[in-house]
Amino acid sequence: LSEKILAQDDLPTLTKDNCQLHLFVNAGLSAEIENTYSNYADGVGLFRTEIPFMMRQRFPTEKEQVELYRAMLSAEPDKPFTMRTLDVGGDKPLPYFPITEENPFLGWRGIRLTLDHPEIFLVQIRAMLRASIGLRNLQIMLPMITSVSEVLEAKRLISQAFFEVKEEAKEKDGELYHPQIGVMLEVPAVMYQLPQLAKIVDFFSVGSNDLTQYLLAVDRNNARVSDLYDSYHPAVLAALYHIAQQANVLDVPITLCGELAGEPGGTILLMAMGYRKLSMNSHSLLKIKWVVRSASLNEAKVLLDEVLAMNEPKEVRERVNLYLESVG
Ligand code: PEP
Ligand code: MG
Repeated sequence: LSEKILAQDDLPTLTKDNCQLHLFVNAGLSAEIENTYSNYADGVGLFRTEIPFMMRQRFPTEKEQVELYRAMLSAEPDKPFTMRTLDVGGDKPLPYFPITEENPFLGWRGIRLTLDHPEIFLVQIRAMLRASIGLRNLQIMLPMITSVSEVLEAKRLISQAFFEVKEEAKEKDGELYHPQIGVMLEVPAVMYQLPQLAKIVDFFSVGSNDLTQYLLAVDRNNARVSDLYDSYHPAVLAALYHIAQQANVLDVPITLCGELAGEPGGTILLMAMGYRKLSMNSHSLLKIKWVVRSASLNEAKVLLDEVLAMNEPKEVRERVNLYLESVG
């Protein structure tokens, strides 16, 4: 099997009935990008910028951030590169910025923290923009969005940084393109605000890890309730399907970048729901490509109809595994 998987490097990511998928990488370290990205992926769907922040003893300076982001963006200048703004808080603390809260996952996380500290946000956005001078592949993504007003405020800060960096670029004869701006769909509240969000962003990206946690009210890292944390729960599947259909109606490009995208069964169901862009850990890429090439969209749709009528995640998993076995 592994030989078969490796032998498909340069083959397109097409199902047997010619449905094309686009596979992207989730990264947090530059090595993850160097290793597999250039060969197999269509771009970077999620760069978790908090990881380089977590590995330091202090906030990286604007200059340090520019260097890091520049190296990443210029590795494959023709492929889209989605940088998520700092998503600390929750399970991702910074050693030099301690936060003590009773419910960190419901607390000061992601965009909530950076909008309260616009100086941190602006330094990061300016660094991303400076790093993108002369390139056009930067996309900026906002984590933990709950309300339209957060997006508007973040966009206002991004515009401010854009005009500052644009002036600078002009002086140096460099061109600065306006990045596409997108939001993570990972707080259930946004499922009821998709039309409003569609008017103010360029793309959506589903964070199925947090969406599962918040929909099911199950801490994604608590071993005691880990049996209850399941993206195959019927409510999660219904939510993912609803989002895909809405994004399609609203004509907003959509990616899914949670762990589910890197699971063979998840890929089949997501494809049937209408997702065409999946972003995953680099080590899942070739396996998922193989799954896509072995499957058929029509069969996946029949399977989706069947599992949407089920009540138990376990039943869903068994049925999906049966399908995966049948295709090899
Ligand atoms: C997610 O929540 O699904 C996601 C991709 O982001 P993270 O795992 O970094 O919270
Ligand atoms: Mg998340």
